[in-house]
Amino acid sequence: MAYIQMCGIVIREVQVGEADKIVHLLTDRAGIVSASAKGAMRVKSKLVSATGLLTYSSFSLYEGKAMYIIEDAKVLNQFWNLRKDVVDLSTAVYFLELIRRLSPDEPDLSGHLRLLLNTLHFLDAKKRDRLLLKALFELRLLAMSGYMPDLVGCCRCGGYECAGGMLFSPQNGNLLCRDCAQPGDGGRYVPLSPGLLAAMRHIIYSDFSALFNFRVEPETGAALARLAEQYLLCQTEGGFQALDFLKSL
Ligand SMILES: [Zn+2]
Repeated sequence: MAYIQMCGIVIREVQVGEADKIVHLLTDRAGIVSASAKGAMRVKSKLVSATGLLTYSSFSLYEGKAMYIIEDAKVLNQFWNLRKDVVDLSTAVYFLELIRRLSPDEPDLSGHLRLLLNTLHFLDAKKRDRLLLKALFELRLLAMSGYMPDLVGCCRCGGYECAGGMLFSPQNGNLLCRDCAQPGDGGRYVPLSPGLLAAMRHIIYSDFSALFNFRVEPETGAALARLAEQYLLCQTEGGFQALDFLKSL
């Protein structure tokens, strides 16, 4: 039998019967796929570790009638460190929910996989502030998934900067400068500090290689976290269970 090799992270798992489960994988070469892991619920199964939620593994599969069947799998990264902290773990589970909800139905989601793996790496290594990683992941994923905001310039005059400051609309996903703002715009547009606008532009427009290479003042980071979440909830139907749980902690 010809086996197919791919790497992927488990973004969902569903137990089937006593011993089997179906996993949904975000893969490096086939987008999001479903795969049956026979016997994976048994403690002694060779598939137990590699098919656990939030585990990145290399898989050897073959095509069954309805979905792939996992023949063998090897763990590449289980992100053990972040699992020790309930808030870090809940944040990571929230990232998986965003991937499931927002990823387009495309055969190549390697960019989504790279964003997820790198964000989890920084969360796992505690190398970046958790709220900053959350905002970064939300904004960059939205931009990659059909919800790209326009942060180039004011939506009316096109200005890149404005001495009076810039405003952002989470509903419209665009910028407005103070000079162009009309009294009726107030409710829809929120003011951005220069540092906040720079951080948002970096997250949306920077090359991936530089994406995680930025710092913000704590005040700016907190404002960025609030606005990224607001933008997410305005642009989607909301109802993210993992986000609700994360906020309850
Ligand atoms: Zn303007």
